[in-house]
Amino acid sequence: MATAHDHDHSDRSGAALTAAAERALVGAGEQWTTMRAAVFSALTSFDKPASAYDVTDAVSTAQGRRVAANSVYRILDLFVANNVAMRVESANAYLANAHPDCLHDCIFLVCDTCGRATHVDDDQLSARIRETARATGFRPEKPVIEVRGRCGDCAAPAAAAMRSIDSAGTKR
Ligand SMILES: [Zn+2]
Ligand SMILES: [Zn+2]
Ligand SMILES: [Zn+2]
Repeated sequence: MATAHDHDHSDRSGAALTAAAERALVGAGEQWTTMRAAVFSALTSFDKPASAYDVTDAVSTAQGRRVAANSVYRILDLFVANNVAMRVESANAYLANAHPDCLHDCIFLVCDTCGRATHVDDDQLSARIRETARATGFRPEKPVIEVRGRCGDCAAPAAAAMRSIDSAGTKR
């Protein structure tokens, strides 16, 4: 997904992602507690941005006990503050950050049909937005750049038709 990287950038998944997230949090002087690990694991189990409520449910199910929504919220906030998770504002939901060891103003592409979000990083674009804001005397903290629309899968009618034929023809 890299477009304008001038450094060694890698998006991670699976165990490598969890290890990178732990490194990032510990590197920031925070502890990777069992509960935090559970919240991160729940976050990565979703294939689309998850609301804090969904994450709370997933952690509760995984732990076999009801965990407090408040503590999940606090952990999600901590994750966002430390580049371990991202908040997709227009969806009011969270995603694990695929590059916890690398700071970017991620640009989210949110599909209105399936709800999935992919992301691209374009530091030149986000730097320009920061510059434009700064030029007015504004102090930008973080540009929020999200594009709503339809993902490649949902936008391609042929692919969608193939899928429906496939599922109709598959007997289980
Ligand atoms: Zn990077
Ligand atoms: Zn990114
Ligand atoms: Zn889609």
